[in-house]
Amino acid sequence: MVLVISCLVLACTGIVQLEPDPINPVDPGVNPNPNPNPDPDPDPDTDPDPDPDRIEAEDGTLTGIAIKQDRAGFSGQGYVDGFDANQDSLELAIEVRTSGLYLLSIAYAAPLGKKVCDLYANGKFVQGVSLEPSERFVETAGIRIFLKAGPNVIRIGKGWGWFEIDYLVLVLASTPPLSVENALVNPAASDKTKALMAYLVKSYGKQILSGQQDLSQADWLFAQIGKRPAVLGLDMMDYSPSRVERGTTSDAAERAIEWWKAGGIVAFCWHWNAPTGLIDQPGGREWYKGFNTNASTFDIARAMANPLSEDYKLLERDIDAIAEQLIKLRDAGVPVLWRPLHEAEGGWFWWGAKGAEACKKLYRLLYDRLTRVHKLNNLIWVWTSTDTRNAVAWYPGDQVVDVIGTDVYAPGPGSHDSLAGLFYNLVSIYGGRKLIALTENDAIPDIEAAIEQRAGWAWFCTWGGFIRDGQYNPAAFLETVYNHTYVLTMDELPP
Ligand code: CA
Repeated sequence: MVLVISCLVLACTGIVQLEPDPINPVDPGVNPNPNPNPDPDPDPDTDPDPDPDRIEAEDGTLTGIAIKQDRAGFSGQGYVDGFDANQDSLELAIEVRTSGLYLLSIAYAAPLGKKVCDLYANGKFVQGVSLEPSERFVETAGIRIFLKAGPNVIRIGKGWGWFEIDYLVLVLASTPPLSVENALVNPAASDKTKALMAYLVKSYGKQILSGQQDLSQADWLFAQIGKRPAVLGLDMMDYSPSRVERGTTSDAAERAIEWWKAGGIVAFCWHWNAPTGLIDQPGGREWYKGFNTNASTFDIARAMANPLSEDYKLLERDIDAIAEQLIKLRDAGVPVLWRPLHEAEGGWFWWGAKGAEACKKLYRLLYDRLTRVHKLNNLIWVWTSTDTRNAVAWYPGDQVVDVIGTDVYAPGPGSHDSLAGLFYNLVSIYGGRKLIALTENDAIPDIEAAIEQRAGWAWFCTWGGFIRDGQYNPAAFLETVYNHTYVLTMDELPP
């Protein structure tokens, strides 16, 4: 009945179409106990219509902001303005009758330039939403959020401030089936690498592999709860030549081989210290922070544009140094979830500091040199993405990426969102063609919520100390996660 109401509303406005969900169709006919909570107000004329398709901002609860009518073109009775103090917010109570993912668009104006608003659903931070400059009211692209049947609260917080909100649009979103091709981009991938990919593909959407960055943290976890994560995350950082020449050493490759032999899976990122141009000054620009954009003068765009330059040769030197380590793993029969150039889009690492084109060129150089020159056929290539409008511009391409990862850090502890909205944004951006993994997290997603909301992350990987600070992932929570049947641990992996 509710869906009929919604459809009628939507048909009248002509804005959107409700898509039936092919996997989990809304089926009110199977409820063995119909109407367990009879509506206290059965009169259809006075029952407030949830009308989930358009919610006017001026109907919400306003804190520190005001209703205005100055800018022409608004919908309804006005818009809200005055987000300039940290506590300013707009809260909208929204009743929906179907639990599921919804596409939310925000109608806004940002006359003073690009802004960001903070979006919360039912008290949980969803994301900072980019508001491109606009003097007219325009709608953002749809952001997927999970809403439960019944009352929900959406809150818009100040973020960068200085934007105006007219209304929100909500549409029930479909959640497409999760099935990807069991194939690797490298046609020469080894049998063990293919077998690992086959296992990831088979588990996808049915279970999640647990993961933990740093061996010492994984050991701590085992000491606490008697379980080891399925995936151990490691870093090639201290093999970077500009660190080695300053005295760093690493045994990450050896530890990875031991982990694999004990029955686990290994993942590597690479905090690639810039090959040259290290500023090396105290206060955040020390040589050992040379992966950060602000800690070196290394210019990736200039290097990639000049393949005969010294800087380009240094990049090749560094890739060859890491290849030596990956060769150890290859020769020991260890496949690697290999995630170079992570978080490029953020720009805080030098490989992302000069835009997408230079970064993609460097990724292609890495791919070519590691697979073709060094014959590293033990790599499953993982690209770290966001779900912003720009993400696709940074994507190195379907021919060189096996898995899409994303790194998520909440504004503070206490959030165990399933991140289903983010998950399906990524499924949508990449056309459902690639596995989607949570390659770095602070709080581990709530597993029951992940199941309910079908947030099908292939794996999660908790970053370093977030596992043991007692706030992001308290001990009782870890017990629940690591003993859950949906969560795969090392002892449950196939031999
Ligand atoms: Ca309005």
